[in-house]
Amino acid sequence: MRYTISKKLYKGSNIMNGRIHSIESFGTVDGPGVRYVIFFQGCPMRCLYCHNPDTWPMTGGTEMTAVEIIEDFEKKRGFYKGGGITVTGGEPLVQIDFLIELFEEAKRHHIHTCIDTSGIVYKDENTELIRKLDRLMKITDLIMLDIKHIDPVKHIELTSQPNDGILAFAKYIEKRGVSVWIRHVVVPGITDDDKYLYDLGYFIGGLSNLKALDVLPYHTMGKTKYESLGMAYPLGDTPEMDKDILLEKKKVILKGIKARRKEIKNSTKQSLL
Ligand code: SF4
Repeated sequence: MRYTISKKLYKGSNIMNGRIHSIESFGTVDGPGVRYVIFFQGCPMRCLYCHNPDTWPMTGGTEMTAVEIIEDFEKKRGFYKGGGITVTGGEPLVQIDFLIELFEEAKRHHIHTCIDTSGIVYKDENTELIRKLDRLMKITDLIMLDIKHIDPVKHIELTSQPNDGILAFAKYIEKRGVSVWIRHVVVPGITDDDKYLYDLGYFIGGLSNLKALDVLPYHTMGKTKYESLGMAYPLGDTPEMDKDILLEKKKVILKGIKARRKEIKNSTKQSLL
């Protein structure tokens, strides 16, 4: 069940508040097991297929503290055996200070933590951000990284933002040793070109922390949300992704992964000779 928090349960004078769009108390596709899914408010991307344009503004949402959220989780703790908390959005990393507080509180309660992110906030040269990320990675069990497009130009066309920081973030997570699931949405005519899917596979095949690949079909369920918000739907009449074709597209990504892994294996063998 997804719901918007309608009232503040608790507000401490010097305790940080996060801006929360909504909470889904029974998530089954956002990480292992049954998850308590927290949708953060705010996102700098503008993905053409976004289902949650109401999470874009950096203001709005309901202000909540980490303690309030974990207290709410604890009320239903019995549901979440083998699961935990997933933060998504919006883009959860735009509220990194609050996210650190939330995950520190979660870890005090021995809760599995997962971040579903586009990685868009990452910048190698931002030492302040890296310091915060280093702290966050120590209390993060899993990252679900959405790579929207491997090609830099097409990535900007699809999301309005470049992908160099996102790919650098993937390498950063690997260095920090945090497990990653890669997510990729296949949209007919936009992200279904075999060349780019292979290149995507080739890139993620180089990540030693890769634990899963989630290839998702584009669907049009977001249309009604745009209508209700009085917004034009960016993808117009783009058809939904056919499930059989999707399987073929996933095979192309897997082919890229295998090719990269084979290259890595061969180069390791050679360096041992
Ligand atoms: S990153 Fe997620 S929330 Fe942000 S625009 Fe893209 S799909 Fe929407």
